[in-house]
Amino acid sequence: MALLYKSTRGDKKFVTASQAILRGIADDGGLYVPTNIPKIDFGTEEIVGMDYKELAYRVLRLMLDDFSEEELRACIDGAYDDKFDDPLIAPLTETEECGVLELFHGKTIAFKDMALSILPYLLKTSAKKNGEDRTVIILTATSGDTGKAALEGFANVDGTGIIVFFPQDGVSDVQKRQMITQEGKNTCVVGIKGNFDDCQTAVKKAFTDPELKSQLASEGYVFSSANSINIGRLAPQIVYYFYAYGQMIKAGRISVGDKLNFVVPTGNFGNILAGYYAKEMGLPVGKLVCASNENKVLYDFFKTGVYDINRKFILTSSPSMDILISSNLERLLYHLSEDTDKVKGLMEGLGSAGKYEFSEDSCFVGEYSTESETFETIKSVFEKENYVLDTHTAVAYSGLRKYVGETGDTTPSVVVSTASPFKFAKSVLAAIDSKYEGTEAFEAVGLLSEVSGTAVPKPIKDLDKRPILHDICIEKDEIKDFVRNRIRQF
Ligand SMILES: *Cc1c(COP(=O)(O)O)cnc(C)c1O
Repeated sequence: MALLYKSTRGDKKFVTASQAILRGIADDGGLYVPTNIPKIDFGTEEIVGMDYKELAYRVLRLMLDDFSEEELRACIDGAYDDKFDDPLIAPLTETEECGVLELFHGKTIAFKDMALSILPYLLKTSAKKNGEDRTVIILTATSGDTGKAALEGFANVDGTGIIVFFPQDGVSDVQKRQMITQEGKNTCVVGIKGNFDDCQTAVKKAFTDPELKSQLASEGYVFSSANSINIGRLAPQIVYYFYAYGQMIKAGRISVGDKLNFVVPTGNFGNILAGYYAKEMGLPVGKLVCASNENKVLYDFFKTGVYDINRKFILTSSPSMDILISSNLERLLYHLSEDTDKVKGLMEGLGSAGKYEFSEDSCFVGEYSTESETFETIKSVFEKENYVLDTHTAVAYSGLRKYVGETGDTTPSVVVSTASPFKFAKSVLAAIDSKYEGTEAFEAVGLLSEVSGTAVPKPIKDLDKRPILHDICIEKDEIKDFVRNRIRQF
């Protein structure tokens, strides 16, 4: 029997995986979830013998089961090739305290590449399978890293156009420069006067706007999403949890069947949710530690059962985690309750009152770290291990220390590393030694290379010398009209 996907909010239309990928979001505004989470049909001892691509195939065929083997392998081969600067794709580094799963070896040196290098292939294949011949317009809101990774993935892909919205003052200098220098005739990058939540909410609204949708349809366009609300983003992320497990066995830090904890620096809750799917599919996961920065909505939620966004939005040195509305949490609410009416009610409460209450036991634990704790962690890990963490990964590493300190849990752990320190060089350098405070962003990249003794990654070399190709900035309530007009140029 084929695996079907349905909306978290109760819409009765069930769809296949390829249809869910194509649509991005359900008609009622809910997110697509698998009606049942498939179980792996291989033993964990087999993981050790598989390379990334083979493992990706073995996992994805279960989640995206209406793709043929040939289709899926072609998508995987196209995605995980020498775009990645490490043949392992997602190598594991060890420190005394844990394994560190490096997900930043792709084109934009952040973990979004893991899914966004394959999503365009999955989307094109899905369009073909479903007889969709309209131009697919990707609308994406970004807190910094998704935008660039999506632009790289979709640039010059026939039959697609991509518009990326980012908070004008809410991304790092390197992130911004990466996006506004993007080449490709089908790409468009727009700054928004507002924060990430403003961007994401406006984009979701444009997506489900019936008037805009029907107008576009009549002109030969259809929307999809490259955000982690798309199941085509989530499914590929499940793979590296299995891969990390295999590498921890190889490193001798666990034996087959042992439990493993993961600590994940979290924003939109997409990455860590993929870890939950891995566990449900049969990976021996112990705890999933959800690490937040000072925007600690999720920490409070896991501690108290109350999700409350009525608070100040804080700009931190881990901007990709500066989020109050973690979209993918909606999927977890569904899986824990299996009650779409309930989820729908909670989401309505979030929309009207900015909060809801939900308590259910789970394998999730919340931790959060302040800016100074994050900086101290970068410094101490560098001094102890001669290994440089980026700011997001440091939030997680600090979260691991706090979790172990509080619980005494001795289960081996993997910290999921989501960005290269070079992407946030300015903050990282200041954390290592305060004498570097105030260093200009691009100068910091070169200095970090000297201090850490590692080469500047190719994707950001000479980034400051590339021509700026996008310089539009609009108000958040102009997004809909902007989309309407811009699309005609694709
Ligand atoms: C996107 C991102 C995160 C947050 O991941 P989610 O899936 O949104 O929870 C963390 N770190 C970095 C560097 C990111 O780019």
